Amino acid sequence: VTAARGGRKLVLAVIDALAPAALERAVAEGRAPTLAALMRHGEYVDDCISTFPSLTPVAASAITTGLGPDEHLVPSMNWYHRGEERYVEYGSSFPATRAFGVFRSLQDTVYNMNLAHLAHDRRTVFEQLDDAGLRTACTTYLIYRGRHRHEPAVTRYTRLAEAAQFRHAVWGPRELFYADLFDSRATGCSSTLGMPGQRDRHAGCVGAHLVENDLFDFLLLSLPDNDTWSHRHGPDAQPASIVEADRALERVVHAAGGVEAFLDEHAVVVMSDHSQSPVTSVVNLAEHLGNWRVLTPSDVAPEEAELAVCPGARSGMVYVLDPDRRDRMVPLLAERLGAVEGIDLVAWRTDGAGPDGAGEAVVRTLAGELRFAPGGDRVDERGERWSVEGDLAGLDLRDQDGLLLDGDYPDALGRLWSAIACRRAGDLLLSAAPGFELVDWGGAHHLGGGSHGSLHRCDSHGVLLACGVGSGLERSRPWHVRDVTPMIVDGFGITS
Ligand SMILES: [Zn+2]
Repeated sequence: VTAARGGRKLVLAVIDALAPAALERAVAEGRAPTLAALMRHGEYVDDCISTFPSLTPVAASAITTGLGPDEHLVPSMNWYHRGEERYVEYGSSFPATRAFGVFRSLQDTVYNMNLAHLAHDRRTVFEQLDDAGLRTACTTYLIYRGRHRHEPAVTRYTRLAEAAQFRHAVWGPRELFYADLFDSRATGCSSTLGMPGQRDRHAGCVGAHLVENDLFDFLLLSLPDNDTWSHRHGPDAQPASIVEADRALERVVHAAGGVEAFLDEHAVVVMSDHSQSPVTSVVNLAEHLGNWRVLTPSDVAPEEAELAVCPGARSGMVYVLDPDRRDRMVPLLAERLGAVEGIDLVAWRTDGAGPDGAGEAVVRTLAGELRFAPGGDRVDERGERWSVEGDLAGLDLRDQDGLLLDGDYPDALGRLWSAIACRRAGDLLLSAAPGFELVDWGGAHHLGGGSHGSLHRCDSHGVLLACGVGSGLERSRPWHVRDVTPMIVDGFGITS
């Protein structure tokens, strides 16, 4: 039963870390013919705003729920779980994964992110479409939660998967293809255990099979290899990995007889989750907090620790472990962290100081201090109201008769507030200056390559390209990655 409006199906292709300038270059050089054809047929936006932190788990949760981290509750790539008194690590790097235990990191990424951490009381795009009786499908994506039960796949990797304790069933879309762990039907496509460089090919193979056999109304086609390539070689090298993403897309549209024939039956959205910027210097956050006892991975005396420190590429979070010391320690930590070279801004929340006792956010940068809270007489570019005091220059904001215009930090107030108001976030949030990256808990970084995570536009502006979706992309306020799920649900004629 195809319930899509006009019988039209929809493919959402997420190209991880796709930088608008790199896409435009790949297209101009004739290296991405399918994306070029989609750009000719659709509408293109080069400044779709990511979440803060501009990291894949946070942005993927926003893309699939239509919510910011304050509501979807996935705060970063690495965070401290106060309830379980431990770090959660979603795979910043293989050394970081090893530092926290490979099995535990995989369990957190594959199972817990979807089934435990992502807000239970809000519906993903899959759940909303499943509830409406539509046929949903997804290739290996961090967020896959839907209404259909999937047992782990039986493959030649079964013994390895069993060793890693991937024995549990999950709730996913109707068709779920997650590395080789979940395979809702035989497609003849192998993912070789989700190895980088092979994943786009797997997605293209599965996508083509699903199109050929008319197996979905909504498909999330995940193309993650561009991010890995760009981390290693820098964002300027992205055209080479965009070629691979384009090939996967080509395979999918080819199954319907080419771009034109494909667009007769499908609407298409292609988007980034975030962008990337070059890394020229690295910072080790824990080294700058030597006055305090920092909780380490596999700490032998966790009860002695005063702080949990969570590097998230070009962002970071610090948690004060004793709640009674929080109010005293936060200003001291802000002062210390603000003085570290490469830390662009430090932000935290004060309880009860803002309007209605709801608390306000404090942001400290080299340009000064700024305090803000929701509600008030100033309006940002997305139409949200704020009360703001202090130095607007700190966030590169301009006040034009009460309208706050963004500079280097897209949707600065909205994204910072959503990050700070997330109940799982640290007591202090950091954003790195352009060029800087924080070393992760495995000692890994991308010096000489690329990274992301900051509030700055160099990580935050991504691609949004839409063909045949609802009323299109024309509007006065800037697009945000969390606008995509409402647009899709609306396109299917469902009221959420
Ligand atoms: Zn990345």
